[in-house]
Amino acid sequence: MNYEEKILKFWKENNIFEKSIKKDRPYFSFYDGPPFATGKPHYGHILTTTIKDTVLRYKTMKGFQVPRRVGWDCHGLPIENLIEKELNIKNKKEIEELGVDKFNEHCRNSVFTCVEDFEKTLERVGRWADYSNAYSTMDKEYTESVWWVLKQLWDKDLVKRDYRVSPYCPRCSTTLSNFEVNLGYKEVKNKSIYVKLKLKNREEFVLVWTTTPWTLPQNVAVAVNKDEDYVCVRLENEKYILAKKRLEILEGDYEIIKEFKGEKLLGLEYSPVFNYIENDFKIVHGDFVGTEDGTGLVHIATMYGEDDYKIGKKYNLPFVHTVDESGNFLDFVEDFKGRYVFEANKDIVHNLKERNLLFKEELIEHTYPFCWRCDAPLMYYAKESYYLMVTKIKEQLIQNNKGIHWVPSHIKEGRFGKWLLGARDWDFARNRFWGAPIPIWRCEECEKMVCVGSIKELEELKTEGDLGDLHKPYIDNVYLRCECGGRMKRTEEVFDCWFESGAMPYASCHYPFENKEIFEKTFPADFIAEGLDQTRGWFYTLHVLATGLTGNKPAFKNVIVNGLVLDKTGRKLSKKLKNYPEVSDIFEKYGADALRYFLLSSTNMGEDYRFSEERVKEVWRKIILSFKNCFVFYNIYKKNGKEVKSKNILDKWILSRLALLNKETIEYLDDYELTRAIRLFDDFMDDFSNWYIRRSRRRFQKPESDLELEEAETTLKFVLKEITKIMAPFIPFITEEIYQELKNDGEVISVHLCDFPELDEELIDVLLMDEMKEAREIVNMALSERMEKGVKVRQPLSFLKIKKEISRELIDIIKDEINVKEVLIDESIDEEILLNFELTDKLKEEGIAREIIRNIQQMRKNLGYSKKDRILVKCKGGNLSKKAKDFILEEVLADGYIDDDLENKKELKIYNIPYLIGIRKII
Ligand SMILES: [Zn+2]
Ligand SMILES: [Zn+2]
Repeated sequence: MNYEEKILKFWKENNIFEKSIKKDRPYFSFYDGPPFATGKPHYGHILTTTIKDTVLRYKTMKGFQVPRRVGWDCHGLPIENLIEKELNIKNKKEIEELGVDKFNEHCRNSVFTCVEDFEKTLERVGRWADYSNAYSTMDKEYTESVWWVLKQLWDKDLVKRDYRVSPYCPRCSTTLSNFEVNLGYKEVKNKSIYVKLKLKNREEFVLVWTTTPWTLPQNVAVAVNKDEDYVCVRLENEKYILAKKRLEILEGDYEIIKEFKGEKLLGLEYSPVFNYIENDFKIVHGDFVGTEDGTGLVHIATMYGEDDYKIGKKYNLPFVHTVDESGNFLDFVEDFKGRYVFEANKDIVHNLKERNLLFKEELIEHTYPFCWRCDAPLMYYAKESYYLMVTKIKEQLIQNNKGIHWVPSHIKEGRFGKWLLGARDWDFARNRFWGAPIPIWRCEECEKMVCVGSIKELEELKTEGDLGDLHKPYIDNVYLRCECGGRMKRTEEVFDCWFESGAMPYASCHYPFENKEIFEKTFPADFIAEGLDQTRGWFYTLHVLATGLTGNKPAFKNVIVNGLVLDKTGRKLSKKLKNYPEVSDIFEKYGADALRYFLLSSTNMGEDYRFSEERVKEVWRKIILSFKNCFVFYNIYKKNGKEVKSKNILDKWILSRLALLNKETIEYLDDYELTRAIRLFDDFMDDFSNWYIRRSRRRFQKPESDLELEEAETTLKFVLKEITKIMAPFIPFITEEIYQELKNDGEVISVHLCDFPELDEELIDVLLMDEMKEAREIVNMALSERMEKGVKVRQPLSFLKIKKEISRELIDIIKDEINVKEVLIDESIDEEILLNFELTDKLKEEGIAREIIRNIQQMRKNLGYSKKDRILVKCKGGNLSKKAKDFILEEVLADGYIDDDLENKKELKIYNIPYLIGIRKII
């Protein structure tokens, strides 16, 4: 079993998560954005999960009580679409034929099949959460609180039933909110056409332009801008009218006959292209008519465009649908009846062509919205619906955003702030089946409306029907009595599921019907975290509902926003492309810690991630494995000596580095800057493993005194243990594993139950750290000079000159590291350092001796000799002094020289002189 899985088991068996929630501590409130429980969790979910888990583990160690309740988003189109596919249902009518009760039962049953997958993966990532006590948006209590929320807004006069043109999915037969539309824009090529409309009793045609030919049967007017310049041109014996700035659309020679302001065109009548609607077809003024594209004359279909609808109201134009709610032409549109509009487009063009009404057609590339769930092209469609009057509270929304701490900070005024500036009224009703029903009843006689705010209230008001299950179709059998004596019937719609998730702060604890105290402690949330797409989704709906309800409070105080996870070339991760490794493989090969570290450190928060397995592997090797190896080193050489306070400069330095790491990690984590926090550790690990441990090797392996070993051992153990605590929130597994080995008897049983290390500012020695940094730089320069000259580090050199003063202890370290006899300070040198490569005979001999030693050590190792095994050495060739020969014996643990022919031997050349060396074990 993988060690991380052992740790998971250890946490579970010892209830470490439950123990970490200490009831006597202050609350830290966190809202878990309920994910749609459809499909399997992907890297995006893992990223968000890692962010949440890291912050919450940190806050726990900082002394807060951090309950973590999970929630599931169960309602809405995502689930409905899934079931439609499963049952091979193509439209709403087929659902009604199957029976809404049966359809909803399917939805209900499917919800929790995906939940299991989610739980498993998130647990494997190390996410601590209370899965047993999860709330779900389909619970009756949840719905009751959603009703309460609506009722509050209703009483504040923030809800209105209105007729508007909204983005609409004909496949799902429902309107979509603006933020849903934003989830589904695509770059597409479409046909656009220029249509000729003949002016009545005149010979000119006006030219109009459209990319949606299917709206032409509903054309009821043409709009121009009265202040723009228009021209009448002659082209191939016909006369056309268009904006002067749009002359470029004409091909071939034309002659401008007249030029005039748009005002001249107002009130002129034209012959419509189709005769399905009774109307005077006239030219009217529209402010929105521009000259960036088209002809400067806009065809108006009142039911299928927002501007069109407004113009219709202003000029009292007819409002008649030519298309039904599934996107098919109605029967009275005889030429195209029953046809799906997007398929009928080409027939309409063909029809115009045949009647010589098509001036020109061309292919254009533009962004067009598609349904974010079912991928059908959207249309704009006039429909009566319920609106939350967001525009009424816009100022307050902007004001309340000022109190929110965003990470990254630019989202506050940028993506989110701008979205608030452009906020529109929110169509929160959906003509669907699987959702919380909207609790509004309308009188069939006098049209009076009642909004019901609780189950109790409904019980008292109802005259028939049952409240056992609040879902459709049962709730639709509940009727009320109107004051006028008429019967009140529930409006058919259900809530937009984003309304339900936005109501989560209240509904997840059934506020205000229960848990008032918990609600007051948890609202607003101290912290939330989700992906960037939620700036227009959940972050937005949380904010709108909280502002609508409270007036002056945001729903959350701190929020971390992460970007998308893409593949290494920047494409979206897709099941079809198979451009990412299975999550389980990554866990298997490198573990969750490596993945967490990669996700938190590799990209600035808020930007898109490039996922690459090689990078995860690198993190695993450089961080996780290095950290583990530091511990393994300690474990091999520890003697469990007594604890002492070290005077050694390396120890003082690493303690200073640790204190600094501690300080800066706290600063960044308190500021929710996770990426900045974890990147501190990259540098720290380099200092710790590639410098501190490297330079401390000798003190462990060949200590000059007990004290020296005790100093090194005490320091290394302390540093390792403190790191486990500082890094526990980020990489919870390896830190736990090492903590288990280091903890003393009587200490808390898990690193995650420890307090986060308190800061010891006194240990921070800035001067020492600066000097050590300089020393490392000097060493790096000297080593790279050696490399350039091809002189091995094993060959001692006479001296190194450096320009600047540096403390004596550090000079010793430099001498050791680059193997020089002396380090001299000389301010007169031009370069930063000057390494003397001249070799005296003595230095050369020492170099040769060291080369021989290395070769003999290698032979010992290859033969599997232990440190206790003594040997005899053969060494022929050269002309080594007695001193050098004795030095060799001492270093390789040999008792003397022999001249026999040995089995274990090797020939080598040093400075072009051949040597024959060999060893034999003394038995
Ligand atoms: Zn759809
Ligand atoms: Zn009535």
